[in-house]
Amino acid sequence: MPRYVRFQRSGKPQWGELTDAGLVPLMESPYADSTARGSEILAQGTYRLLAPVEPSKIICVGRNYRDHAAELNNPVPAEPLLFMKPPSAVIGPEEVIRYPSGLSELVHHEGELAVVIGKRAFDIDTTDVHRYILGYTLLNDVTARDIQRRDEKFTRAKGFDTFAPIGPYIDTDFAPAAQTIRVHVNGQLRQEGQLSQMIFSVDVLVSTISQVMTLEPGDVVSTGTPAGVGALEPGDSVEVSLDGLGVLRNKVAAR
Ligand code: MG
Repeated sequence: MPRYVRFQRSGKPQWGELTDAGLVPLMESPYADSTARGSEILAQGTYRLLAPVEPSKIICVGRNYRDHAAELNNPVPAEPLLFMKPPSAVIGPEEVIRYPSGLSELVHHEGELAVVIGKRAFDIDTTDVHRYILGYTLLNDVTARDIQRRDEKFTRAKGFDTFAPIGPYIDTDFAPAAQTIRVHVNGQLRQEGQLSQMIFSVDVLVSTISQVMTLEPGDVVSTGTPAGVGALEPGDSVEVSLDGLGVLRNKVAAR
């Protein structure tokens, strides 16, 4: 059950593998054919986790859970509704979501299962998708809901710096089934949904996207959010969690 992370000690970012004994640095990225391990084992507290991906693009899926489409009075899409978040929005676990006060007065959390692409993929069949996936992690599709309502396009509402927390690790053995995804804000349960409630499966989503654009190693496909989206405020602590994928925690602060 390899769990890959990116981390920083003093110098530049490195890849590592989380093991029961601690964090083991890797000689290469997990996208390489072989990923030799270092001999060191790093104890917790001696390093800082980074976002486990450096995507060239983040492709998101809107309204992929029936109850979430309903709570915002949106119809269920007949085919995947795609939009993108810029790589500049990415932050890691425990990093701060910056609230763009003055530009938005209604920022929402959206906890989501995220797919990490492992191999370049173009025009792949649904039955082949699993061969192109490195693993899974968590993403918070932070959204300026007031701006989203005003704009026809999602680019501004979804694209602010720090609006794409990702992590904490990539699990290469995770398989989406009926696991429950949850979002807590300040310890209070806000969102809860089962992955089995997705309208379009991971295989359909990745295949569909690959018919449009070439997916590169490290690219992220975020699979949509269940019901219960709600407001974040400066000072809040938001946690996205899913059995097998850990907890992605971020604080919110004024920009
Ligand atoms: Mg979303």
